[in-house]
Amino acid sequence: MAINPEGSLTGPTGEIRHFSRRAFVALASDTSRCFICGISAAGCQFNDEHVIPDWLLRRFCLHSRRITLPNGHQLMYGRYTLRCCKSCNSLLGRNIETPISQLFVEDFHATVENLRANSPTLLYQWLCLLFIKLHLKDREMRVDPDTRNESVQISEIYDWEGLHHIHSVARAAHSGAKIDDSVPGTTFVFEMKPELEEFDLGSQSDYSTILVRIGSVGIVSVLNDCGFVGPMVGEYLSHISGPMSAIQLREVAARLAYGNKLLTNRPAFWSELEREGILTIQSRLPASGERGEVDKAELGHLIAFTCGPLLMRSSTTEPEEKILQLQRGEIQFLYRDDGSFIQD
Ligand SMILES: [Zn+2]
Repeated sequence: MAINPEGSLTGPTGEIRHFSRRAFVALASDTSRCFICGISAAGCQFNDEHVIPDWLLRRFCLHSRRITLPNGHQLMYGRYTLRCCKSCNSLLGRNIETPISQLFVEDFHATVENLRANSPTLLYQWLCLLFIKLHLKDREMRVDPDTRNESVQISEIYDWEGLHHIHSVARAAHSGAKIDDSVPGTTFVFEMKPELEEFDLGSQSDYSTILVRIGSVGIVSVLNDCGFVGPMVGEYLSHISGPMSAIQLREVAARLAYGNKLLTNRPAFWSELEREGILTIQSRLPASGERGEVDKAELGHLIAFTCGPLLMRSSTTEPEEKILQLQRGEIQFLYRDDGSFIQD
């Protein structure tokens, strides 16, 4: 094991075992390299990785349907792929996607049992992988999809250094890193009510939060809080008394993301090489979960940003007015004024 000039940990044949922060930022700026091992396309077989896993595309018949990207542009799900070498693609399939796909069955309660019976680290790894793929793919997306106008790429506004930890977890199947039990973030699993759209995926880039709906199961996770956001929102969410709608799941995601924003003492993450050559992803937890004050309008804007696209596609009357009301914190989708859960 050695350290290369970029500060990365390398293996016996020079392969990158662990990317330094600087090396990850360099990797993120180069769309031609494999996003897992960093190898260049020249002289290596690439077959590219679906950003949304193939098993989900097949389960919800999404291959020929179009995904709406953050810039409003639409792309076929089947072509929503990221540069990945054949070897890493197979590894991710074998170690992450296949076992995860077996946990998510049609019945909500059976899925929860499967998740409970497995290590929470596998789900956390998968969510980190999904999140980093979404963000790396944005390197190819212009903020303004109209090519007649000048535009930066969406990814240029991301804090890549801040995403280094998530990338390290996402590629743990390749580096062989163990993930310490203190590392996984806050994750909530909800039962979803039957709706026409059975799949949803979204992220709050600035606050490392991801939501995914897989049929009857909705998951929201904060990836870099080491579980500190959970107790902040737990009481609020405890009044949810039935299956949720897609827009309610999005509101929950915005609330968790905002909780993460409010954390003032943040966990620190690093990778450590132990004497036996075992690489471990570690975290140092803050002494207290100190947090800032809730700003109603700031939270309202985040909820409006997360729920707005669904509102615009829905049959609701005057969606623009509802978005303004969300921004002002005047309406929400989870609870009525008397505090009861909205189920209709
Ligand atoms: Zn690779």
